Parts: sequence; structure tokens; C-alpha cells
Amino acid sequence: MGKKIVIALGGNALGNNLPEQMVAVKKTAKTIADLVQQGHQVIISHGNGPQVGMIQNAMAEFSRTHGEPMAPLSVCVAMSQGYIGYDLQNALREELLERGIPKPVSTVLTQVRVDPQDPAFAKPTKPIGPFMTREEAEELAREKGYTVMEDAGRGYRRVVASPKPVEIIEIETVKDLLNAGQIVIAAGGGGIPVIAEGHHLKGVGAVIDKDFASSRMAQMLDADCLIILTAVEKVAIRFGKPDQQWLDEISPEDAQRYIQEGHFAPGSMLPKVQAALDFAQSAPGRYALITLLEKASDGIQGRTGTVIRG
Ligand code: ADP
Ligand code: MG
Repeated sequence: MGKKIVIALGGNALGNNLPEQMVAVKKTAKTIADLVQQGHQVIISHGNGPQVGMIQNAMAEFSRTHGEPMAPLSVCVAMSQGYIGYDLQNALREELLERGIPKPVSTVLTQVRVDPQDPAFAKPTKPIGPFMTREEAEELAREKGYTVMEDAGRGYRRVVASPKPVEIIEIETVKDLLNAGQIVIAAGGGGIPVIAEGHHLKGVGAVIDKDFASSRMAQMLDADCLIILTAVEKVAIRFGKPDQQWLDEISPEDAQRYIQEGHFAPGSMLPKVQAALDFAQSAPGRYALITLLEKASDGIQGRTGTVIRG
């Protein structure tokens, strides 16, 4: 029986720059096409760390050399959704046509509402954009009210908040496209973060974690399964230690305990396990799978990866 699956693609599905992305998406498209061929309905989301960093740097340079205002971070996220979606949707279209599956593929420019009271706004953690001298950083902080921080001895950078996703604004569009038999790419880079001011949606200078946004989207779509594809085949406890142990399945209770014991690195595996747990516990029958990009098909057939059930 075909399942409704939200696939969250990690950095290795896209590469680190434009030429790498062109190559990487071909392999990614094969993985996704396998799932489509098996009869599953798929919705794809993806990260955008290196891509949004590149855009932000380019826009900062343009602003510096041309004296033009800096592009807001929300606009940079929108740009990243656009060009990643462009490559991904074309690669997928081509791979499906090669297999005789003429399914339309579309990318939805996706806004994600966040709560202006989210505690994350009081404690920005995510460094973005170009490195600056202390003087440049202090000027930016004074002029624009940005939060700036010293980043691991390499200079100063702007740091932004990473609030939790509350609502996928374009969810009805995604549903309609899905119901029309399309493959949909949405909530790229965690979505464009916005806050609601009456009917107006205002972009905010924040970055939403793509694993959390994918979990939220999967819940709103009533998906059966959330697959988080990354650079490891399974989740481990005591990761990188001599007694590390790869896990086939994690119960919600164990997941909570392992999180508390610090087995999952913040910013990498921790949000994945939290997002997986959140989805798995959101309704009966839902489950999440964390595995390698190239193992997605084996994973969905229960042969590998780490599964979390509610
Ligand atoms: P993505 O771009 O897919 O989001 P990340 O690099 O953010 O990938 O996160 C995946 C990485 O998390 C793995 O490649 C691995 O190095 C690291 N990691 C940290 N803790 C663990 C753990 N407990 N088990 C497995 N991998 C872990
Ligand atoms: Mg990541």
C-alpha cells in the first residue's frame, strides 16, 4: 500500500555550491523516484544552510559596494527555495520521465509562521552571513539592531534566532497539488519565517530548522511517515565513542532519555530526533525514519535506518 511520505533532505542531498548541486540532485532524484515508483505519495523538503549563506554573503557584498539596502534574511531564504527547487524539480522531472512516469513536479514558495513570543528570539544561536571585524560588527549592531557574536575565533558574525515553526502558510496549496497527483517540494530551508500582523505576513530575520518544519508540515498533511535523509545510516548513542551503538528503533521513552543524556549533537542530530519524535507522537500510526539518502528505499521497507514510532 502506498504511503504519504514527507522526505526531509539534508545537506548531502544538495552539495555545497552550484556545480555540486547540479550533480547531487541527480542522485537525490533517483532516491525519490524509487519511492514514487513503489507507489508512495511524496512531499519533499530540504535544508539550505550553505545556499542561504552564499546568497546572504552575495547580497551583503552588493549592499556594501553599491550602497543599496541589505536584502532581508527572509528574502534570502525565498531566493534559496527558488533556485534549489529549480534544480530539484528539473532533476526529478527528468528521472521520472526516464522511467516512463510523467508526473508533474512543483516547488511551492513556502512561508512558515513563527510566534513572536518564541523564547528563541531572546537567545539567537545561529551564525549566518559574512565574517566581519569587531568594528564592522558593532556598527551593524548599532545601525540595524542585529545581534552579533564572535564565531569560534574566525571573526564576528550576525547571529539569528531559530524559532519553532507554528503553521505552514501555503499548506492548502501543497494539499491541492498533492491531490492533483503532483510531487511537491515545499518548506525549503525550514520555510520563510514570518509573523502575522493582521492579514499582513511580515518576514523576520530568523532561520527555522528544516527538520522541525518538515515535522510540522508532515503533521498538517496527515502524512504516514516522515523520512529524514542525512549523512548517517542510523542514529547512534555514544556517537563517535569506542562503545558507540547504532539503533534500529528508539521508543519515545528511550528517545527522551537519550536526549536528556546528551547523545545527540545540538544543531545536527538533536533536532532530527526531536522532530522525528514529535511527528511519531502526533497521532496514532505515524512513524519517522532517519537514514542515509541512498538507503531511503531499503529504510521504508524496514531493512535499515532508525525508526521512531509513537
Ligand atoms: P543534515 O545536513 O542532513 O541536516 P547534519 O550534519 O546537520 O546533517 O546532521 C547529521 C550528522 O549528525 C551526522 O552526519 C553525524 O555526524 C552527526 N551526529 C551527531 N550525533 C549523532 C548521533 N548520536 N548519531 C548519529 N549521528 C550523529
Ligand atoms: Mg543539519
